[in-house]
Amino acid sequence: MLTISQILDLNWDKVNNLIPIIVQDVFSNEILMHGYANKKSLLITLKKKKLTFFSRTKNRLWTKGETSKNYLKVIDIIPDCDQDSLLALVQAIGNTCHLNNKSCFKKKKNINVSFILELERILKYYKKNNNSTSYTSNLYKKGINKISQKVGEEAVELVIAAINKDKKNMLEECADLIYHILVLFSYTNIPFIDLIKILKKRNT
Ligand code: AMP
Ligand code: ZN
Ligand code: ZN
Ligand code: ZN
Repeated sequence: MLTISQILDLNWDKVNNLIPIIVQDVFSNEILMHGYANKKSLLITLKKKKLTFFSRTKNRLWTKGETSKNYLKVIDIIPDCDQDSLLALVQAIGNTCHLNNKSCFKKKKNINVSFILELERILKYYKKNNNSTSYTSNLYKKGINKISQKVGEEAVELVIAAINKDKKNMLEECADLIYHILVLFSYTNIPFIDLIKILKKRNT
């Protein structure tokens, strides 16, 4: 996270005391919006952990979400190589754009493998809110034996689909398998990224 001395080290003269901030969703990597910060808004951001800008339109400090409650929970803020812009990694609450879009930049949806990490976050939500009647919540309630058994079942179903050369079913059963593996990992509090790290290490 940005430190006070990093804030002071930014090239404030170059940017006329308003530094651009690019806002990126930490889970999906989507660019959500951009805005400007001054020293004070950055200090408030660090204190509240909610992204706070200096709004040129409002001509005042502006905590994103102050009326809509669609806050940007700050995970990290990183200065660029020449200290004249910032990248904020956030967990977005609701839609970021006031036109009720996830991002202010409308672009074609491209499906990304990092959706797995979004799914992990969604599953964590079900794990916490175990009063829900969803299939996922029930699975968490049933515990490790049931979850492991489901992983085994889906793996077998995938194998059968593969032997039958049923490509459509292979996709469905593999989706079932990956979903249940994610539930198993979140149940046992193993971050999925640890698995990705192992795969990466084996191939670099
Ligand atoms: P909010 O900060 O979400 O409570 O929104 C308050 C006001 O700020 C809105 O009515 C808009 O005028 C403006 N606003 C909100 N989100 C954005 C955004 N992503 N980009 C530019 N202006 C925004
Ligand atoms: Zn720069
Ligand atoms: Zn917008
Ligand atoms: Zn299945």
